[in-house]
Amino acid sequence: MPIEPDTKNWTWVLQRRCDACGLDASSLPFRAIPDLVDDNVARWPAALAVPDPATRPDEATWSPLEYAAHVRDVFRRFAVRLDAMLTSDVPPFANWDQDATARAERYRDQDPTTVLQELAEAGRSIADAFRAVPDAALARAGRRSDGSVFTVESLGRYFVHDPIHHLFDVTGERFVS
Ligand SMILES: [Zn+2]
Repeated sequence: MPIEPDTKNWTWVLQRRCDACGLDASSLPFRAIPDLVDDNVARWPAALAVPDPATRPDEATWSPLEYAAHVRDVFRRFAVRLDAMLTSDVPPFANWDQDATARAERYRDQDPTTVLQELAEAGRSIADAFRAVPDAALARAGRRSDGSVFTVESLGRYFVHDPIHHLFDVTGERFVS
């Protein structure tokens, strides 16, 4: 079976704990986000330290390398969104087809060492960006193309679930707060 496009609307993670990875983003303090990103970044090298990180466990599941490349791009993409929300009023987010990106960018063929390096850089950068958000900006808004409206505060909680969930996808280790 080929990779199934992820069409699920993940905004429910803002309302309740994720049964799979164990993170409860609904009760997460915004100021905890940067350290959670740093912690997540630090765990990816071990997650890719397998004999062949480019091998998919089955055809319907991304390889560790593909997950890492995706998380790197999540870091980059949300940094752009956060910046847009801080610098303009209720910006629309550009649509992002994650599965098309994985194919177009050939995640499967990327170099694991480079991907880990880029993931670490992008992760540090977005952690710092969230750290620098002043309290007065937490209620600033942005809008996704499907109509979902986020504040900087809810965007942060929504965002941080993604790398944590994908690390769980790769390692099977659930999030422990
Ligand atoms: Zn999860």
